[in-house]
Amino acid sequence: MSEILISGGSLIDGTGAAPRAADVLLRDDSIVAVGAPGTVAAAAAPDALRIDATGKTVMPGLIDTHLHCTFDDVQSNDELFFHREPAMSALTTAQNLQKILRAGVTSFMDPDTAWGIGPSVRDAIDCGVIEGPRMKTGYQALLTAVGGTAGRLIPDEGRAGYAQVVNNTDEIVMWTRRHIKYGADWIKIHATGSLPTRKGELLVWTEDEMKAACDTAHDLGIPVTAHCRSDESTAAAVRAGVDLILHASYITEDTVQLLVDSGTPVCPTFTFLANLADYGPKVGAGVGQEDLFRGEIRATAKMMRAAYDAGVPMLCGSESGFALTPYGHWHGREMEVFVNELGLTPLEAITCGTKNGAFAVRMHDVGVIDVGYRADVLVVDGDPSKDIRLLNDKSKFAHIISKGKQVDTSRPWPSHTKIPGSKVANWSEELLTYERAMTLG
Ligand SMILES: [Zn+2]
Repeated sequence: MSEILISGGSLIDGTGAAPRAADVLLRDDSIVAVGAPGTVAAAAAPDALRIDATGKTVMPGLIDTHLHCTFDDVQSNDELFFHREPAMSALTTAQNLQKILRAGVTSFMDPDTAWGIGPSVRDAIDCGVIEGPRMKTGYQALLTAVGGTAGRLIPDEGRAGYAQVVNNTDEIVMWTRRHIKYGADWIKIHATGSLPTRKGELLVWTEDEMKAACDTAHDLGIPVTAHCRSDESTAAAVRAGVDLILHASYITEDTVQLLVDSGTPVCPTFTFLANLADYGPKVGAGVGQEDLFRGEIRATAKMMRAAYDAGVPMLCGSESGFALTPYGHWHGREMEVFVNELGLTPLEAITCGTKNGAFAVRMHDVGVIDVGYRADVLVVDGDPSKDIRLLNDKSKFAHIISKGKQVDTSRPWPSHTKIPGSKVANWSEELLTYERAMTLG
């Protein structure tokens, strides 16, 4: 038995309640006591580890409800689909999970995984083979013949990377069942996809097709999430029975009403767009398109706020796993975007990033600091209910407790050098024309 007594801190319990002075006692992987200062210590064993949280904030570990732990901070779709081997993906994932944990994320949901390795990763964490946050996982994303956001890189049939192509309703039903057999906690539908000749993303599933996936999954007790980067797709997904909407870009009033009526949670995942808008051009990405990305956030934020006000659960997802959202760096950023773009208070944003996220992805015993919940706790230097940006600053995490144990943050930050064959290799940066050669001397 191991105990940790955290005393003297200000408690943000994840439910939206105002911060209050409280002590917290953890026993193994459970929160066993929460009480007014000085009232909990008597229940602690003499050898309990004692953490003085005076001047600090005690809160639930962050719940990142949309990240891709098997992508290894990929720089392009070409890499993702043609330069990633299943075994190496699993090995890099084991290392990247440590970064996620050290950014204060104690639980996450990964909707689709390279080559479907998600359930094995989850089981390896649960069985103590590798260190990592608690995980809910999909297998691969189901894509129709139109594809998703990787265009013609997606094969006409079969699977590649995170994608499983389904060409008719029979295949939708079959692969939904197979993914569940392979251990998926969630089924993921890629409801929208992009075409080279069209702007934005289009709905590439019929409502009946989505319903086939939802009915099949639900019959087996498994929920469904869908990538919906348009209003039409969000509305269709909700009507078809999808349980969690990712993005919900450009939603209109009618769709907000559908979300309200169904109670379907939304994970807008603004972080990727926000990073592109704010920093993309500085790292050579999306140059000249900053306003487009900012425009998508602004266009979506107003209706998202209306949905939030009407009671739609809003969740925080970082889309970590890409070069613009590397692991361990942006898991608190969505809460900051919620404050800046949706006008939420920091405390409301924290509830989105803790309790709302946990409950929506079916993790009902985390995301809240109260007796009976799991022992996932952050001790933060400062008050994130006054400055939400603290939660994106790893140096402010005085203690990260996962499953009742302190995460060792004194080790060097995990990293690896370039893995052979893992990157797209160009012959050259520019064309060597005769005229160009003559300028080279
Ligand atoms: Zn995603």
